[in-house]
Amino acid sequence: MSNRVVEGRMVTSETLAEMIEGDRPMEATEIEDADRECPDCGGNVISVGYMPSVTAFVTGYKCQDCEWSEKEDE
Ligand SMILES: [Zn+2]
Repeated sequence: MSNRVVEGRMVTSETLAEMIEGDRPMEATEIEDADRECPDCGGNVISVGYMPSVTAFVTGYKCQDCEWSEKEDE
């Protein structure tokens, strides 16, 4: 398990992907450090890969301190 604290709340990779996507993913990979800073607040950014549907894979990025998030389709 790779739980992290995001916006003051403990998240798993599934709940982190849900915060980014707005829906619970079919599957999600482990949370990783994205090695970049949040453009809004300078906070630490973490990433998670997830499948919003059977044919799609998305890498999502989320700031641990504020609401900023971003996603990249692959
Ligand atoms: Zn931020």
